[in-house]
Amino acid sequence: MTSDLQKINDRYSMFSALAPHIPDDAEFLFSAKDNLTSAGIETRCGSKILEGYRPAFDAAAIEKMKKSGGGLVGKTNMDEFGFGTFSVNSAYGIPKNPFDRERSCGGSSGGSACAAAVLEDHVSLGVSTGGSVCCPAAFCGVYGLTPTYGRVSRYGLIDYGNSLDKIGLLSADAGRLKKHLPTISGRDPRDPTSCVQPEPALSGKRIGSVAVPKEALDGASADVRRAFNESLERIRGMGADVETVDMPALRYAMPAYYIIATCEASTNLARYVGMRYGRQDGDLALKFDDYFTSFRTKYFGDEAKRRILLGTYTRMAGFRDRYYAKALSVRRHVIGSYREILKNYDAVATPTMPFVSPKFADIALMGPVESYAADRLTIPPNLAGTPHLSVPCGYDGDGMPIGLQLVADHWNEDVLISFASDWEGMFDSRRAEADI
Ligand code: GLN
Repeated sequence: MTSDLQKINDRYSMFSALAPHIPDDAEFLFSAKDNLTSAGIETRCGSKILEGYRPAFDAAAIEKMKKSGGGLVGKTNMDEFGFGTFSVNSAYGIPKNPFDRERSCGGSSGGSACAAAVLEDHVSLGVSTGGSVCCPAAFCGVYGLTPTYGRVSRYGLIDYGNSLDKIGLLSADAGRLKKHLPTISGRDPRDPTSCVQPEPALSGKRIGSVAVPKEALDGASADVRRAFNESLERIRGMGADVETVDMPALRYAMPAYYIIATCEASTNLARYVGMRYGRQDGDLALKFDDYFTSFRTKYFGDEAKRRILLGTYTRMAGFRDRYYAKALSVRRHVIGSYREILKNYDAVATPTMPFVSPKFADIALMGPVESYAADRLTIPPNLAGTPHLSVPCGYDGDGMPIGLQLVADHWNEDVLISFASDWEGMFDSRRAEADI
């Protein structure tokens, strides 16, 4: 088993570490993003700074998957600490899209989406801060579910942005989302932000009405527009009302997110100084701040450094009101917009990503702002903490998958899960050819 996985990994680089042992009596197999701690298996968040870090305990979500019969096969590759949209910011191999290895799997849970697309009967735990479950799900043509913020314990999740981070599920099979959402859900006293919550009732509640924001197709490619419009027709065919609404908040969410997320990230990264976790091989003859600086300079990647600079700047005294406080008020506005719309509709539909997965050669030419802008539709539900789902909904001329995103009200995963099951029954999704 492990040698087969090794062979698959040589081709697709979806794993940063394989489990040394998979229990023979495992009832199902799963993988987990490498920012979830796993007892005895290196957990590095795609970062050199955490090289050698072997946690003593499993993250709550991994522990629960194991308790329900799951065998953990490996830790999946990701953008360093979750910073990215294409998984190219990983120090341990860049996952390759199973539909075309010249292209990205999306990010930052790119390895999880790749594993879900390539491995049979597989489910992977991903993590989303600003879209990192739905984006890679869309790029790899699989189902991705990000539950309500607070639904799943973050205990053992290595923080990117604490007010945003959520653990979700990716699988080629919608039924696995339904099966495992209850497995990983529930209040956990070890994570104070995991809420007392309604059970994820999976009653099969159908979507009766869908709102489509006018802004949904801003900047979308022709293929994405076509697939999205066809999807709306299918949704009508399922008996749901589809109506257009105004949602200008969608246009302001992305800049606000990058301020809030980098503010939180820059404080979270302050703990990596070469003393407590991971690598500790700096020059101890240096003065302590020179030691920290040289260590961080050497082992953080460029995107992590960019985010430390941005986050530190925007929360500095003198700038805080102009950036951080303003971003928080935009966030409140985004939450308010979803509340208003979801009073009258069961879900808000948009494409997941404005384009299909780009080639690595094109990603190399993108500036940071261009790459951040790709998240414009996945960021809003993450700022609002609302559950959201990406389903495969079409293919472009090169056969690259396109995703449809549905956002529901807090705690209302039920409609998303039943939509995913119905959709799976009527949409003929293609499996990637995993020629190994
Ligand atoms: N692409 C976004 C970012 O870089 C989202 C990543 C995530 O959800 N971890 O912040």
